Amino acid sequence: MNSPRSNLASTLHNLDGRSYGNYKQIRGSYEFGPVTVFIDRVQVDPFASPSKVRIRINRAEAGFPTDITTERADRIAASDFLFRVGDSFLHRNDRRSIILGRPGQEVLERTNVVIDDDGFEARLLVNLPARGRRILGHQAADILTRDVPELAQAMFVHSNLRADGLHEHVQLHRDQLELQNHLGEEGLLAFIGNDSILPRRSGDSDLPMDSHAVAFTSPTSLEHTVTLSSGRSLTGMAIPHGVTVIVGGGYHGKSTILRALERGVYPHIAGDGREWVITEPSATSIRAEDGRAVTGDDISPFINNLPSGTDTGSFTTTNTSGSTSQAANLVEAVEVGARSLLIDEDTSATNFMIRDERMRALIPADREPITPFVDRIRPLFSERGVSTVLVAGGSSAFFEVADHVIALDAYVPQEVTEKAHELVGVNPADFASTSPAGSGDDKSDSAGGSSDTFATPRPRIPTAKALRPSSKTKSAKAKGLGQVQFGKAFIDLSAVSQLVDVQQTAGIAEALEYMAEIFDNRTSLTEALAEIDDMLDAQGVDGLTGNRDHPGHVARPRAQEIAAALNRFRGLQLVE
Ligand code: ADP
Ligand code: MG
Repeated sequence: MNSPRSNLASTLHNLDGRSYGNYKQIRGSYEFGPVTVFIDRVQVDPFASPSKVRIRINRAEAGFPTDITTERADRIAASDFLFRVGDSFLHRNDRRSIILGRPGQEVLERTNVVIDDDGFEARLLVNLPARGRRILGHQAADILTRDVPELAQAMFVHSNLRADGLHEHVQLHRDQLELQNHLGEEGLLAFIGNDSILPRRSGDSDLPMDSHAVAFTSPTSLEHTVTLSSGRSLTGMAIPHGVTVIVGGGYHGKSTILRALERGVYPHIAGDGREWVITEPSATSIRAEDGRAVTGDDISPFINNLPSGTDTGSFTTTNTSGSTSQAANLVEAVEVGARSLLIDEDTSATNFMIRDERMRALIPADREPITPFVDRIRPLFSERGVSTVLVAGGSSAFFEVADHVIALDAYVPQEVTEKAHELVGVNPADFASTSPAGSGDDKSDSAGGSSDTFATPRPRIPTAKALRPSSKTKSAKAKGLGQVQFGKAFIDLSAVSQLVDVQQTAGIAEALEYMAEIFDNRTSLTEALAEIDDMLDAQGVDGLTGNRDHPGHVARPRAQEIAAALNRFRGLQLVE
């Protein structure tokens, strides 16, 4: 039931000095002009997780134009804009008790601010003030009856906002999605717009490098221009599907390009420098990650005849090596539907990637369990339609399997495919037209490999109990960006580089709980992930959480990153 504001204020003033537990009386909803404040959950003591508060305004009162707040994608962008408005309002006014969440450089779908058919809502966490264990009632009254409604006015009353800023934010997001769709239609894997700023300020900052950054320029041979329906015209480097190898001297910017591509699966805000770095949405970074657990992966395209006699068609271990972990990461990405892989030599296991001629001569093939990636990269494309962008500055081995070789010289890319092919004596016609399976072109592969190296692997079906830790209570929780606690186990996600926001990690924790309900000894891992994606498309991120009134602060993870967590869970068990 709604009560007038004076009620909440006077209740809080009266509570001043009383013991903290009395705060629980303020649960309920309160009207402040057009703003409704919902106090959904009250913390039991000053050190408990903060109280859950929502603010809401009806559409009519908010006065937003409907043309940018109706379509699902527009709502995500507009919510993101309002989220940023709220964040800077709280900082400017030093409102430290009120937590709205922290925006980063990407536009992500989140629970923090949502737009629905009826209105606008923000989900806040509020630390109710105390001295010792006594209620600070007058301060609490300021926070809940003045600061919180003011925040709602700042975010949700259209006339209080920079309307052109909102419009540009939504339009940029539309253009980015249109460009991403365009890539799909044109058979392109990624696009890097000219003038993009790819390097970041420092290893621990995602902000653009300021003064010394060399802006991106496309090699002419790969230059592509697209005009979007907004009228915006973009020119930059288009990376086609197939095999692309990035070479260049150390420190010339190779890894920086690859990192920009891996982030390009998410749209970036204006001013980031990567607004026009757009990668097809399923692209997945693959690296070595020794020590991780693997459950039932078919890594046999890469690893066979291990000295231990272990079955690599259904490979299970609690402790992978560099090469087996990279093979596992790769087949798992393909299993969830990755259409392209991003691989950096810096984070790869050399023996997984290549084997040189002398080593091939010294160690007979039947004593070497690993078929290096260089021998599988073309069949992976021709049989499964999976492309690769690879940074390889230290070896020429990939020249002969590359459709395109791009050389970086002081951060400036040039296409050097012809020269690279000449050097290794390859006629590009040998494979350049090798196309993904099903495209009607079954030309054989210069790189060797039988026609069914990558036979569709047997689906992996987790047991019904696999994700149900013994305790009944909520069992999964994000512990920072790179870790999920799941029951008593910890899942290490620190090597999962396309996880960009701790709220996505929270989303993964929710997804694990959600999947625990799906698995029934029949549903495969990929089917469960598809079910989650469908649900997220239909219901938004709120649908992932157990608590729909106030779901806390959660962002949408990709299926790839949810799978990454499941695959790294040491308690995962499969139906035989
Ligand atoms: P590589 O992988 O070729 O060794 P990196 O991508 O790691 O090189 O880049 C080396 C350094 O150069 C990094 O500190 C990076 O921030 C910086 N850098 C990369 N690209 C640019 C650029 N376009 N302009 C300025 N500095 C850059
Ligand atoms: Mg590097």
